[in-house]
Amino acid sequence: MKRKWFSVLDLAVLLTVLALSLGGFLWLRTRERAESVSVFCGDECVFTLAFEDVEEPVSHTLQTERGTLTLLIEKDGVCVTDAACPDGVCARTGKIARAGESIVCAPLGVVVVLSGDGTVDGVTG
Ligand SMILES: [Zn+2]
Repeated sequence: MKRKWFSVLDLAVLLTVLALSLGGFLWLRTRERAESVSVFCGDECVFTLAFEDVEEPVSHTLQTERGTLTLLIEKDGVCVTDAACPDGVCARTGKIARAGESIVCAPLGVVVVLSGDGTVDGVTG
């Protein structure tokens, strides 16, 4: 019997399925109230803000190479209120409030990610 039970391709498919189900599982588990918001422009983290520090809605405008994007950060969530991108997908995403949720503006290269407790890399104390 020369046939291998698992070819490399089978293994790749299997691993992908496993990774996806694990990812989905983790994603479900992290759908709790977000603790902080991180904003990335390109590969760079522009700023991180903890929701507990947000007393009243804060408007934050990002200046990117391709245009501006305005975020509204409230105590219970974040939304894009205005963006210079042609598709407007980020603004249509609406408000995100749960850990693991994100708003992506591909044309401007901006990503807004919400993190929950324990998922934030940072200095404590
Ligand atoms: Zn956009």
